[in-house]
Amino acid sequence: MSAELRDVRLSSSTDPGAAQLTLYLSSQTVHQFFSLDHPDRVVIDLKNTRQAPGLRAPEGTGPVETVRFGVRPKGVLRVVLQLKSAMPVRANWSAPAGNAGAQLVIDLGNQIAGEAREGAPSVPKSVRAMHAPIDSDRDVVVAVDAGHGGQDPGATGRKGTREKDVVLAIARALADRINSEPGMRAVLTRPNDQFFTLRERIQRARVAKADLFVSVHADSIRNPDVSGASVYVLSERGATDEAARWLAERENAADLMGGVSLTDKDNTLASVLLDLSQSANISASMVAAEGVLSALDRVGEVRKPRVQQAGFVVLKSPDIPSMLVETAYISNPAEEARLKTTSHQSKLANAIFSGLRSYFERNPPPGTRFASLRRTTVASVTSDPARP
Ligand SMILES: [Zn+2]
Repeated sequence: MSAELRDVRLSSSTDPGAAQLTLYLSSQTVHQFFSLDHPDRVVIDLKNTRQAPGLRAPEGTGPVETVRFGVRPKGVLRVVLQLKSAMPVRANWSAPAGNAGAQLVIDLGNQIAGEAREGAPSVPKSVRAMHAPIDSDRDVVVAVDAGHGGQDPGATGRKGTREKDVVLAIARALADRINSEPGMRAVLTRPNDQFFTLRERIQRARVAKADLFVSVHADSIRNPDVSGASVYVLSERGATDEAARWLAERENAADLMGGVSLTDKDNTLASVLLDLSQSANISASMVAAEGVLSALDRVGEVRKPRVQQAGFVVLKSPDIPSMLVETAYISNPAEEARLKTTSHQSKLANAIFSGLRSYFERNPPPGTRFASLRRTTVASVTSDPARP
């Protein structure tokens, strides 16, 4: 049986350091909650719960900056409160008299922000706020690479829209979306209108210890009728050429094989090792890219229904799964116009994000929050609804 989240109310009391969030559900369900920092957030997961059609998250107030809903796998509805600063949290179920529903009341701050409604005493249950071990897990890091920049404008649309500007806006929106997700963190390889070589972009991703690299572009072609998105990963040929280059520069390859140096290996062994790493990396890139492509397909037009492979230099990290997203054709007048709007930019960013998140959910890097959420069941809290 599943519950429905029908209403959400947020109130802040006269004490600026306290607030109360009430979740109105059709029936009681199992909930889990935990806190995260950087930024400070409280995450409430409701099992077997769906959001009522048209239900919107309330605006932030008092110590609560924003409230967001998110749909998680296996029917879990997530509510994320972003806070101005960390504060104590308590959660209690209450069952209002004469009403079939149930309420989950989240109190933030030291003071309880409101008394229980008349005739509906809130019966406190012992609920533990979960901090560890989740906080000790590292975030997955995504290197978000806005194509071109500085003296390199990239492609230019008929109306003069420059690729470097729209892809920077999309990349920033993508980074913001990633940073608002618990367990994920973004690094922009070029945070502003600056020029970096392709190798510098790869290097910046390596320094940030990125788990994934995504380069954001807008395509161009002579025929103005061509439109739609495409996603690329490195081709085998591109990988082979790159292997030759790494082998030629043995010293640079020293940090490549997870600390296994190539300098003391003979040529055959070194190339076998590098080859293994590269094939695994192309497969991982392909899986991640397929997720992004199908998410893009849901929000608009896709030019080619399959992930493409090419020898683009920016995809050549031998050990960081990498993809290049051509978000649209800037040479197509309709797509050029759309690319300039913030609403379309965030639509594209959200689609790329959801592809990346589902990749990490299925392929969590060890030591990350995605990995522990998969492995351990966070102690969950059940309690009987208080009966009047
Ligand atoms: Zn480009």
